Amino acid sequence: MLVVKEITELQAIIDQEKKEGKTIGFVPTMGALHNGHISLVETATQQSNYVIVSIFVNPTQFNDKKDLINYPRTLERDLKLLDKTSCNLVFSPDTDTMYPEEDKRQFNFGQLEKVMEGQFRPGHFNGVAQVVSKFFEIVKPDKAFFGFKDFQQLVIIKALVKQLNLPIEIVPCPIVRENDGLAMSSRNQRLTEEQRHNASHIYKTLCEARNKAHTMSVKELKQWVAETINQNEFLETEYFEISDDEQLNPIKDWNSPLNKVGCIAVQCGEVRLIDNIVFE
Ligand code: AMP
Repeated sequence: MLVVKEITELQAIIDQEKKEGKTIGFVPTMGALHNGHISLVETATQQSNYVIVSIFVNPTQFNDKKDLINYPRTLERDLKLLDKTSCNLVFSPDTDTMYPEEDKRQFNFGQLEKVMEGQFRPGHFNGVAQVVSKFFEIVKPDKAFFGFKDFQQLVIIKALVKQLNLPIEIVPCPIVRENDGLAMSSRNQRLTEEQRHNASHIYKTLCEARNKAHTMSVKELKQWVAETINQNEFLETEYFEISDDEQLNPIKDWNSPLNKVGCIAVQCGEVRLIDNIVFE
C-alpha cells in the first residue's frame, strides 16, 4: 500500500494505473478509521481495480472550531488498519496542499443545504463540497463511495456531481453499527464510558419509531422521538426530521409515495452524533 502526500506524485501513479486499464475507486475520509470506513473500502475493492483512500481533516467543513481541534487524528493507526485491506493507496495531503489559497467558492444546493445538518451547521456543506470537488478533480475516480450514515451529505454529493457534470458514479454504502446499534463514528471515541452506553438509546429509539409509524401521525411520531431521547439525561435531541430521500422535503403524511428517511442529530455531552433510519 502506497502512502502519498503530494498531488503530482499521486496523479503520476493514477495515470499509470489508468493506462493499464484499471478503474479507480475512491473513498474520502477524515481518518480515525473504524469498521464503517473499512466497509466502504471493501465495497470499493469489489467494484473497482485500484482503490484510493484519502485521509484529510478538512478545516472548511467545521463550523465549530472546537470540533475541528478535538477531531481525533490517528494516522499511524489508520495506515495499519488500511494495510490489512485491499486499499492500494492512501492520499494524506497537508492542509496547504489542498488549500494553497483560500477557497472562496460558494456552492448552491438550494433546499438540500437549508434543512437538518445545513440548518444547524451553517457553511458545513459548502466546506464539504469544496474539499470533495477538489478531490474529485485531483483523483478523477470512476466511482466514489459514501456512507448512508451521512445521508444528507450523500444527497448533496450526488447533486454536486450533477452540477459539475462529473463522470463519477456515487455509490451509497450501508451504515455499520456497533453491537448495541450505535452507528460507528470517529466521534464515538470522545464519549465517556457512561455516555457511550447511553448513546445506544438513539438507534433503539429510531427502531421503535419505525415500528410505531402509521400508528400515529408523522408530527406525533417526530415529537415522540425527541421526547423519548430527551428523557435520557445524557442525550439532547437537536432535530429529528422525516424527509423524502431526494429533495429532503419534510414528509407530512405516511401515505406519501416518496421514500422516507428519519434523520436525527443528538448532543451527547460535548459530542454531536447523527444517525438515520429508512421508513417503510
Ligand atoms: P468521515 O471520515 O466521518 O468523513 O467519513 C468518511 C466516509 O465514511 C463518509 O462517506 C461517511 O458517510 C462514511 N461513514 C462514516 N461512518 C460510517 C458508518 N458507521 N457506516 C458506514 N459509513 C460510514
